[in-house]
Amino acid sequence: MRTAWALALVACGMARAADITVGTAAAPPGRRAAGFIRVAAGIDAATDIPVIVVNGAKSGPILALVAGSHGTEYASIVALEKLAQSADPASLAGALIVVPLVNLASFAQKVPHLNPVDGKNMNRFFPGKADGTQTDRVSWAIARQVVDKCDYLIDLHGGDLDENLRQYTYWANTGKAALDAASREMVLAFGLDHVIIQDYRTPLDPGATMNLTRFALTLGKPSVTAEAGHAGTTRAEDVDALMEGCRNVMRHLQMLPGKAAPVEHPLWFGRVAVLASERDGMFYPLAAPEAYVQRGMPIGYVTDYFGNRVWDAVAPISGVILYIGAVPSMRKGDTVAHIGEIAEPPR
Ligand SMILES: [Zn+2]
Repeated sequence: MRTAWALALVACGMARAADITVGTAAAPPGRRAAGFIRVAAGIDAATDIPVIVVNGAKSGPILALVAGSHGTEYASIVALEKLAQSADPASLAGALIVVPLVNLASFAQKVPHLNPVDGKNMNRFFPGKADGTQTDRVSWAIARQVVDKCDYLIDLHGGDLDENLRQYTYWANTGKAALDAASREMVLAFGLDHVIIQDYRTPLDPGATMNLTRFALTLGKPSVTAEAGHAGTTRAEDVDALMEGCRNVMRHLQMLPGKAAPVEHPLWFGRVAVLASERDGMFYPLAAPEAYVQRGMPIGYVTDYFGNRVWDAVAPISGVILYIGAVPSMRKGDTVAHIGEIAEPPR
C-alpha cells in the first residue's frame, strides 16, 4: 500500500521529500537536525562524530559533504561548519548530510595526518569494518550512515599543519563514462582552476581498502575531492573557496536556485610526483606553491640540527608545485613536495 500510495503521489507530481535520519540526527522535510554518528568502543575507544542533516522543503538529490578525516586541515572543517549553519532548508531542494569533523582525536590533540587513537590515516580504510580499530569502525559507520544514503559526495581537505598548499580539486577517471561525466561536471562546477586526475580504472584487489571518494565511486555515486588551506590557517580565501565550491555544486545539481558558472579552462594534472626527504633535519623551502619548476631544479634543502646543509630537494619532474613543506620539521621519508605534471584536458 505504501508503495502504491507513493507511486500515486509521484504520478500526480506531488512527491515530497522524506524524513532523513543519519546517526541521531533526524530531520523531516524543511527542517535541520544535528546529532552524532555514534561509534561504540571496540578494541579501542568510542567516538561520536558530529553530523548535521539539512532536509530541504523540496525534493531533490542527497549530497554528502565530509571534512576532517585529517583533523588539522582546519579550513575545510570550518568551511563545512559554516555551510551547515547557513544552509536554509526552506529554499533547499534535496538534502545535505554534513559531516564536518570525522577525526575528532586528531583535531583535539592537534595531530596531523593520522588518527592518534590507532595511528591510521582516516582516509584510507573504506569501506571499513565493524570490529576493527577506531578508524576501521568510523569508516564502516560513515560508509553505512553517509555514503549509502547519499546520491553525490564531496570530500573536503586542506593543506595540513605541515603543508603549504595551492587550492585544487581531484577528478577520478573510473572508466565508467556516465559516472565520470557526472563527477567531471561536479569538479568544473566547484570552480577551482587546478584539477588533479586520479586514475581509478584498474580495479583494486578484493578486500583492499580505499579513500572515501573512491569508495563512493565504487557504489556508482559521483564524487569529488577538494583541497584548500595550509599550515593550520583558516583564511577567508580558503574557507570561502570551499564553501562557494560546495554551493556551486548544489546549484549545478539544482538543489539551490541560480546557475553555477563552471570553470572554463582549468589546468589538469595527470601525474603527481611525490618528493620525499632523504634526510632527517630542518627543511627550508626555496619555492612556493603554484611555482612552475623544471626537473633538476632545487626547490628546498635540509640542514642538520647545526645548520649544515645536508640534502638538496630537487624537482623530480617539470611541473607545478601543488604543495610544499610548510615547517622546518623533517624526517627521512616525509613528503617534501607534490609536483603536478600538466596534462591534456580529459575528453
Ligand atoms: Zn586531508
